[in-house]
Amino acid sequence: MNLPFVAQRLNQDTSYVGRFAPSPSGPLHLGSLVAALGSYIRARQMDGKWLLRIEDIDPPRALAGADDLIKESLVRHGLLWDDEVTYQHDSHQRYEQALNWLQANGHSYCCQCNRKQRLANPKGQSCPCAQLALAKDECATVLRNTLGAQHIQDLALGAVSFAKGACDDFILRRKDGLYAYQLAVVVDDIYAGVTEVVRGADILPSTAYQLALYQLFNQPAPAYLHLPLVMGDNGQKLSKQNHAPRLNDAVANSNLCRALGALGLPVPRALNNAAVNDILEFALSNWHIAFIANNASAFDNRIDA
Ligand SMILES: [Zn+2]
Repeated sequence: MNLPFVAQRLNQDTSYVGRFAPSPSGPLHLGSLVAALGSYIRARQMDGKWLLRIEDIDPPRALAGADDLIKESLVRHGLLWDDEVTYQHDSHQRYEQALNWLQANGHSYCCQCNRKQRLANPKGQSCPCAQLALAKDECATVLRNTLGAQHIQDLALGAVSFAKGACDDFILRRKDGLYAYQLAVVVDDIYAGVTEVVRGADILPSTAYQLALYQLFNQPAPAYLHLPLVMGDNGQKLSKQNHAPRLNDAVANSNLCRALGALGLPVPRALNNAAVNDILEFALSNWHIAFIANNASAFDNRIDA
């Protein structure tokens, strides 16, 4: 039996659906612009849709107004999305349906362990709660993961294997009622009809969890393209956690040139001061996955437990 919302899923007649899915924990920085640009170029080159989803599943981490800053930045960089922006806080009903479905099919259990107990649990084993019929209201809901190794053919990285145990049982909904990122992303992507996920390589390990959910939901996983990360001067990846500076929208054209460089396509000097749309046109005509696939040796292709 399919998930209740699958029959109503969107974009069923669109052959390519991509998305950019930032969390509103701060404004865009160069690293997030690279992810936005990479997914935008793919969607436009494939004559598909490019969706924008604000991943505000974790309210304590959201920064008030960050979603507007992100949208404004994308517009100033000429990255115009299709359809209406979606917010995860509007999708709780579907997360609930997915959770109930997993529970009804024996794929989840209620767990009352605290974080320390969970970490102390032997790898590859469910915690003792899996054997108890605990009441849902007082517990976290955890996926019972009995699946083996997972494999993808990443469009940039090539064959990537996730060993059995790359993800053990994992939380779907916390005790305080917050839905977990992995569940929300998969439900959202299925519902939006996403066919290809283009994102930073820092999210590659999450793929193992997401593949497990696709498999249990009996839904085809999207294609994956993981982009190289942008490193700061300190050798760390640019991220909000590492205090990457926010993009200055006033110099959107030079930001786009830097982002394209990070995607393996140096922009000719003549275009350095060009308008945003001219740079994007150059990108759409000239960028190819091979430009980053050639750098795939920079990645560790095997994700172990
Ligand atoms: Zn437990």
